[in-house]
Amino acid sequence: MWIDSHCHLNHPKFDGLPPADIANQALGQGVDGMVSICCRISEELPQLLDIAALDDRIWCSIGTHPHDAGIEAEQAISEEELIRLAQSSPKIVGIGESGLDYFYDNSPRDLQEQSFRKHIRACKETGLPLIVHTRDAEEDTRRIMDEENKDGKLKAVMHCFSSAPWLADWALEQGFYISFSGIVTFKKSTELQEVARRVPADRILVETDAPFLAPMPNRGKTNHPEMVALTGEFVANLRDEKVKTFAKQTSENFFRLFDKAAA
Ligand SMILES: [Zn+2]
Ligand SMILES: [Zn+2]
Repeated sequence: MWIDSHCHLNHPKFDGLPPADIANQALGQGVDGMVSICCRISEELPQLLDIAALDDRIWCSIGTHPHDAGIEAEQAISEEELIRLAQSSPKIVGIGESGLDYFYDNSPRDLQEQSFRKHIRACKETGLPLIVHTRDAEEDTRRIMDEENKDGKLKAVMHCFSSAPWLADWALEQGFYISFSGIVTFKKSTELQEVARRVPADRILVETDAPFLAPMPNRGKTNHPEMVALTGEFVANLRDEKVKTFAKQTSENFFRLFDKAAA
């Protein structure tokens, strides 16, 4: 019934459970598809492709997380190489997660920017959607994406949206999608809930970002892809929509944006 547009099936924080178990449990509990997101191409890609090979309903992405933009092996991957790799498998349906994280600043900001630009260019070249991670970096996110997307042809999703509402407005104007994680279910997320209420129906996605950010009432526990239903139901209620209708709508949105997954 739901698609988890963003999770990390290979993450060690799943209480030591193998990715196949995590995925199968989700597929048995109402999840119709999931994208396992790449953070370090140099280390993760073969593993993510193996996981995606387990089932027709599992896909993956390729990309360097802003936290890892300073790693030499990631910097060594040229734009051309990124493009070549992204096109090397039908299972790779998006590029990212890439972007800017000024909350943690785990990598120098200039290297985050360099990596972000490389990913945007690879998206424009391949037509694949960009999975954007941005935290405490609204101005630079808009500036860089505007500079790299002069022709307006970039396809993108603002994943785990938790930025200022104006960034959502800007993203929607660009034709981008907004994806909500468990954060939207937290009591204090009133501003974010307001954003989730007004994103147009054809531009909204849901995700878990599992194993992180479990939605209420599981906050603080290990998140799993099937918990996407809790976030989905919460947002459907916020928007006064029937849960089934909203699930169908978000799945249609997913396949429109990640059209390689629909093929
Ligand atoms: Zn992220
Ligand atoms: Zn993530």
